[in-house]
Amino acid sequence: MSVLRQSTLIMFLALVGADLLTTIFYGIFFSDRYLLDIVLTSIIVLLVGYPLAHFFLGQNTRLRAMAVELDRVARLDDLTGLCNRRTFFRECEAAKAADERGAFLYVDVDHFKKLNDRFGHAAGDTVLREMGEIIACCVRGSDVAARLGGEEFGIYLADADLVTALAIAERIRRRLAHTGLGVCLDGVPVTISVGVAVRESGQSLQELMARADENLYAAKEQGRDRIVSDHPRKRAA
Ligand code: GH3
Ligand code: MG
Ligand code: MG
Repeated sequence: MSVLRQSTLIMFLALVGADLLTTIFYGIFFSDRYLLDIVLTSIIVLLVGYPLAHFFLGQNTRLRAMAVELDRVARLDDLTGLCNRRTFFRECEAAKAADERGAFLYVDVDHFKKLNDRFGHAAGDTVLREMGEIIACCVRGSDVAARLGGEEFGIYLADADLVTALAIAERIRRRLAHTGLGVCLDGVPVTISVGVAVRESGQSLQELMARADENLYAAKEQGRDRIVSDHPRKRAA
């Protein structure tokens, strides 16, 4: 309901209440001045109450909008709209607790520093935003995707085995390769490397991420633009 409508409703109720009290009071003590005073009461209630109601309801609406915005800023990464680091760890622990199986993808844009140096920070930011959109399109509602820092993204795939994890990683890699950005930025292709690890029973999130990080490192060493998993250790691209 709009502030104007809410104010009108409150004023209507205040008016009915004030007039009712006036009616009772004057009915008992001063019945001769009843009409004049009920008009005066109504005017006073309207003149004082309406601006007050409008002001306080407006403040309330603004505070609620600020709370929603604060919540968004605290939970999400501003540039990509994915989860931020803090939300990622919180939601991963919840997803991990609810499930026996799971996998983690460490995604890193290749040669991002060179790309920034050559085309500027704004072009780098465009690549990061594009990555955010691609990742959001490729994961399921139960997965947790985040920008963990710089040009690094983390994806926890709930209830996923190695085959599913590799398929999703490959989908992300291919999507980027087929976007305008992926094909080339002024002749330079934008690619990603992905380290994949599948959860073993009793393994903590930190251990899982450390294994994925090792595989990401291996992907970089092997020449980038590829996916490396450790179980069984094989190159998927
Ligand atoms: P590698 O292929 O080994 O991953 O090399 P790299 O150049 O991608 O990695 P490196 O860690 O050397 O560089 C990451 C760069 O990312 C450096 C930093 O300036 C840039 N960066 C970090 N955050 C942002 C950001 O929010 N926007 C932009 N445009 N650049 C960022
Ligand atoms: Mg990089
Ligand atoms: Mg990096």
